Amino acid sequence: MELLRSHGQFLSLSRQSPALFTAPFAFTLDNGTEVEISAPGIISFTPVSPKGKDIVLSSGVHGNETAPIEICDELVQALLTETLTASHRVLFLFGNLPAMDLGERFVEENMNRLFSGAHSSGPGLVNQERVRAKELELAVGHFYRQGEKLGQTYRCHYDLHTAIRGSKNEKFAVYPFRHGQPWKQSQLQFLFACGVNTFLLSNSPTTTFSYFSSNEFGADAFTVELGKVAPFGQNDMQRFQQARDTLLALISQEALSLPEYNPDAVLVYKINQIINRTQEDFRLNFADDAPNFTDFPKGYLLAEETGAQYFAEQEGEAIVFPNAKVALGQRALLTVVPTSI
Ligand SMILES: [Zn+2]
Repeated sequence: MELLRSHGQFLSLSRQSPALFTAPFAFTLDNGTEVEISAPGIISFTPVSPKGKDIVLSSGVHGNETAPIEICDELVQALLTETLTASHRVLFLFGNLPAMDLGERFVEENMNRLFSGAHSSGPGLVNQERVRAKELELAVGHFYRQGEKLGQTYRCHYDLHTAIRGSKNEKFAVYPFRHGQPWKQSQLQFLFACGVNTFLLSNSPTTTFSYFSSNEFGADAFTVELGKVAPFGQNDMQRFQQARDTLLALISQEALSLPEYNPDAVLVYKINQIINRTQEDFRLNFADDAPNFTDFPKGYLLAEETGAQYFAEQEGEAIVFPNAKVALGQRALLTVVPTSI
């Protein structure tokens, strides 16, 4: 436990000695902050008089997306060693620990399709990703309900990722479907301060982690793509500096002062088509390494498979998250078109 208290080695202990954390426990830091560890990779901090925000930061839901894991690991270390003091309550979730060890996106199944109860539907809790998704959901629920008892008034959840492929817009965020509630400029303003200038508005419920927190707990939640995948220790952390600094400020400052929202500085897209792979011969009709947000002329054949062809329906329609190798029935491609909020 010395490694935990004086060196802040929570993530490395969670990965190397998960048995240490199988039973939940709590302790108090010298500065009065309550630390609660409910499982390997799940740790929360509650300051003596929390200032209203309940902040959830998740990383490693895809195990090989290392930069956000490194940012959160550093923040946890700073909080545990008391070089940083939280003003607000904050819960850190390091999602897929076994996949981190393998340097893979996942072991058996894409965890970011398993939330809002999807973990228990179909075959049920048959693999570690499904068991973990349920555990993460319970941790979020526990954290927010505790906050409610303490009179906390605001909830947010940033689920931090890096993309498999490059992007024309390196940092972008997916805003989960809001069931008709207004999109918030203040959130775009916050994420812009993190270096994110491109936003994708979802048009339907999904089984992502960010939609879960948005839909079930009214949190301002986003899937945030902070750059490109690289192995641990090989990230150019300079490229993540703005995100790190802004997240640190979010946790430690009572109120954030952000530059004014400038709609001309951001790109906002809405989803136009969701294209699922339904046949073995599904193929994409553009380069394997085409960056996210590459756009195509109206009528361009984007993908095809036996029995179906998929075309760009509008001029400037752009591709996001193409992956021809997904399991049958899963999403192989999203297309998006510009909009504004
Ligand atoms: Zn990811």
